[in-house]
Amino acid sequence: MDALPEFEVVRPTTVEDVVAARAAHPGSRLVGGGTDLVVNIRRGIEAPPALIDMTGVDELKTIDADADAITVGASVTLAELAEHPDVRAHYPAIAAAAGEIAGPTHRVMGTVGGNICLDTRCIFYNQSDWWRGSNNHCLKTTGEMCHVAPKSKGVCFATFSGDLAPAFLLFDGEVELAGPSGRRSLPLTELYIGYSRQDGSTGDGKTYMSLEPDEFVLRVRARNAPGLVSGYDKMRIRRSIEYPVAGAGVALRRDGDTLADLRVAITGTNPRPVRLDGTEALCGGPLDDRVTDGLDELVRDQIMAMKTTFTPGHYRRRVAGVLARRLMQRLWDEAATS
Ligand SMILES: Cc1cc2nc3c(=O)[nH]c(=O)nc-3n(C[C@H](O)[C@H](O)[C@H](O)COP(=O)(O)OP(=O)(O)OC[C@H]3O[C@@H](n4cnc5c(N)ncnc54)[C@H](O)[C@@H]3O)c2cc1C
Ligand code: SF4
Repeated sequence: MDALPEFEVVRPTTVEDVVAARAAHPGSRLVGGGTDLVVNIRRGIEAPPALIDMTGVDELKTIDADADAITVGASVTLAELAEHPDVRAHYPAIAAAAGEIAGPTHRVMGTVGGNICLDTRCIFYNQSDWWRGSNNHCLKTTGEMCHVAPKSKGVCFATFSGDLAPAFLLFDGEVELAGPSGRRSLPLTELYIGYSRQDGSTGDGKTYMSLEPDEFVLRVRARNAPGLVSGYDKMRIRRSIEYPVAGAGVALRRDGDTLADLRVAITGTNPRPVRLDGTEALCGGPLDDRVTDGLDELVRDQIMAMKTTFTPGHYRRRVAGVLARRLMQRLWDEAATS
């Protein structure tokens, strides 16, 4: 096991103090529970001189959820989110996603802000320094090539594996941000800019979020829609404690025998969480083969899993499709009886 390097820990108690601490400590990193960042520091992936601890900022520890909308502070823990009665009642996909992240002890420490801003992952990156050094590193750190796609021309395909982002994407989630220039809101779809074959234009993979320098997440918000039912499911190698092989969130509205709304979001496959485009075209009739075949096609077109984990990319894409299809069917059946 590698020893942790020296770093200072700064403990602000207000949002303004966080902004000031970032300015006073160049090269610092924010830390929530540290369940991902500290692992990366131990592996020598990064060595910030100071960590700014977000967990003492009381105004970021609240959850407001009712049938219309949900707002969750960045310092809320995953366990608190998973167990909140109003979140479970009105946003089951969000509660389920939070309740299936890592293991129980991680969920007590891990925060919503840390999960939303989770670093992307790859078998050539989440390794010790000597392991990465023996491979001459790679594009995501100090190397010159991508070992997953050597012809990638500067693009890193490391996978986004956070479970909360797809769950919030089902409800048109957005983040409230703060930084040196003040506060602003941003749709989650614009926060994540990891490489996408669809738009191909934005992130190079090393930069997977559109945060400005020293900007950070205050809260995540989302809106409900009348009659929407939702769920989240994932597959992992060790069911009790593991990143997703793939994770899928589904929300739908059933009007009698008509699928009136369908939303599907996936994680663990692409360099960003993906809310599938084109699901509206599958609505308007019963949930039949047209819908399931159509969903399979959307997954085939938009889910791009590369060999960034020990599980092959084509398998992770299959898993994502199967999870989404099963969940859609389950929610459809449950909606008939509710
Ligand atoms: C064995 C194991 C299994 C895991 N399984 C899963 C899993 O199944 N699903 C999953 O999603 N994750 C998993 N994780 C990763 C991690 O535990 C969770 O994602 C957790 O939610 C991270 O939250 P944290 O507060 O601990 O983040 P930290 O480690 O504190 O921070 C993570 C990143 O977010 C940044 N950050 C923190 N707060 C903010 C903020 N407010 N604004 C901007 N940036 C911020 C940090 O600088 C850092 O880059 C696993 C980790 C381990 C060790
Ligand atoms: S996808 Fe390529 S550049 Fe990115 S972490 Fe993996 S090996 Fe490195």
